[in-house]
Amino acid sequence: MTQIFNFSAGPAVLPKEVLQQAASEMLDWHGSGMSVMEMSHRGPEFIAIYRQAEADLRELLAVPSNYKILFMQGGGLGQNAIIPLNLLGRVGTPATIDFVHTGSWSGKSIKEAARYADVNVAASSQAEGFTRVPPQESWRLTEGAAYLHVCTNETIDGVEYNFVPRAPAGVPVVADMSSHILSRQIDVARYGVIFAGAQKNIGPAGLTLVIVREDLLDYALPICPSAFHWKNVAEHESMFNTPPTYAIYIAGLVFAHLKAHGGVAAMEARNIQKADLLYAALDADDFYRNRVEVSCRSRMNIPFYLRDESLNESFLAGAKARGLLQLKGHKSVGGMRASIYNAMPIEGVQALVDYLNEFAGR
Ligand code: PMP
Repeated sequence: MTQIFNFSAGPAVLPKEVLQQAASEMLDWHGSGMSVMEMSHRGPEFIAIYRQAEADLRELLAVPSNYKILFMQGGGLGQNAIIPLNLLGRVGTPATIDFVHTGSWSGKSIKEAARYADVNVAASSQAEGFTRVPPQESWRLTEGAAYLHVCTNETIDGVEYNFVPRAPAGVPVVADMSSHILSRQIDVARYGVIFAGAQKNIGPAGLTLVIVREDLLDYALPICPSAFHWKNVAEHESMFNTPPTYAIYIAGLVFAHLKAHGGVAAMEARNIQKADLLYAALDADDFYRNRVEVSCRSRMNIPFYLRDESLNESFLAGAKARGLLQLKGHKSVGGMRASIYNAMPIEGVQALVDYLNEFAGR
C-alpha cells in the first residue's frame, strides 16, 4: 500500500504512535475494564487522565502559575463570542475591542465581536490580499480598549506573526493560536488569553483550549452562559458540565508524545526545517506561487497556486495517486494548501516536494 501523507488543515494528522496507543487502550484503559469513552468524568480514572494532560500542557508551554488552563467546547468560533462575554465587564460601556485583520479567521472574529461591542480595526492587510502582518508600528490601537484580538497564524491565508503583539498598558492581548499552538515556543506571559481549537496540533475536534491569566477570569457580563464563564469553568477544573472526555484523553496522549520527543523546542526546530524545504521547492521556479511576504510566511499552513490553474485537477489527482491527500486549498481562496502540523513527518514534506518537482518537470 502507498504510504499516506495527510495535509489537511484540520481536523488533521495525528502522531501514529498516539493513534496506536489509543487503539490498544480502546476497550480497556489500564485494566479498568472500560474505554475512556465510557468513564464518568468524575471518576478517579478520568480525573487522573485530565490532571496529567493539564500538567503536561503546562510544562510544554511553560504556562506560568498565574494562568488557568481550561478545556472547553464550542471551537475557535465559539470563543469569538465567549471572549467578549467574559471580558467586556472589565471596561465601561460603550466598550471598544481592537483587532488586527490579517485574514479569514481574524475577519470572522471581528464580525462576531461587533455583536457585543464597538470594533476598531487597528490595522488590516485586506487591501494587499492578506499577504502579511501589518507592522506593529502602524497599528492604531485604542487606549482603554477591552482587549486587543489577534490571530497569530491565519490558517487559510498562510500568514504567521513573527513578533509578539503589543497592546497599550493595561489592555490584554487575546490570541487565536488555533493552527500553530505547540508548533513554536511562546512566552505565555505576554498574553492575557490564548485560545485554540484542538483539531490541528492538539487532538480531535470538539475540544477548545483556553489559557487565561487569573486576573481576567471574573469580568463576565451577566448574560454570559454559566458553562462558558471562564471563572466558573476554572473553579470546576473544566468540569462544570461534562467535558469532551475522549478528546481530552487523546490530547493528553499527544502532549505526552511531544514531551517524549523533545517538547516544543524540538518541534519548532523540525517545523522550521519542514517549512524551509517546502517553500524552497515552491520558490524554485515560477511554476508555483506563494504570495505571502517571506517574513510572514506560516510554518504550518502553506497555500500555493499553480501558474496554470487549468492544471489544478490533474495536480490533485496525481498527488492523490501518490498518497498525498487533502491538498486542495480552502474554497474561499482556491489553489492548493499544504498544512504541515507537528505530526507531519519530514518524509511527508519530502514526498510532496518530490511530487512538486516531478509535476512541474512534466
Ligand atoms: N481560528 C483559526 C485560526 C482556525 O484555523 C479555525 C478553524 N480552522 C477557527 C478559528 C475556527 O475553529 P472552529 O471550527 O473550531 O470553530
